[in-house]
Amino acid sequence: MVGGEKMLIAVSGTPGVGKTTVAKLLAEKMGYDYVDLREFALKHRIGEIRGDELEIEFDKLAYYVKEKLKNRNTVLDGHLSHLMPVDQIIILRAHPKLIGERLKERGYTKEKISENVEAELVDVCLLEALDENEAIIEVDTTNKTPEEVVNEILSLLERGIKRKIGIVDWGKVYDDIIPYLNLGGD
Ligand code: ADP
Ligand code: MG
Repeated sequence: MVGGEKMLIAVSGTPGVGKTTVAKLLAEKMGYDYVDLREFALKHRIGEIRGDELEIEFDKLAYYVKEKLKNRNTVLDGHLSHLMPVDQIIILRAHPKLIGERLKERGYTKEKISENVEAELVDVCLLEALDENEAIIEVDTTNKTPEEVVNEILSLLERGIKRKIGIVDWGKVYDDIIPYLNLGGD
């Protein structure tokens, strides 16, 4: 981007937030390669599948990301991509209710839905990313089309903006989220 430098961009966020949709469109518009982190891990035989979960060896994955994807123009899609050695992290945010609805549609269990709605509510990806990287852009996707989200990202990157955080506060809409949470002791 800057002076023709190669960039590795992570698109992260809670499952259902829109990572794959946005990452593919962003890659297309920038002329970058699109890489799904989970597929990348499987391809390089990093980690193993237990049930339907992929247990990843983190250090090994980070090493491979650095070896294979750094210095290529790549958009890396995945809910763990913010833990990888990338040049720019994009964290997508959405009203936790939307996360709940989308995951319900995907047939997730109540527990899994609650877990992810709560993760969105309390900014898990952002907090983890803050430990890893300075260059973090958060985008609220609520009530926006994927196209609008991508244009927002492009506009920030073109202006050289690498950090924009603290843009949502889902605590304010907590009442709307209660139905999706597994409260109480079951
Ligand atoms: P993830 O990869 O984070 O699990 P997906 O991209 O697979 O999310 O799914 C997100 C869903 O939300 C898709 O059905 C997509 O069409 C929809 N969606 C609605 N609005 C947006 C938006 N602004 N950005 C991204 N996805 C959106
Ligand atoms: Mg996805």
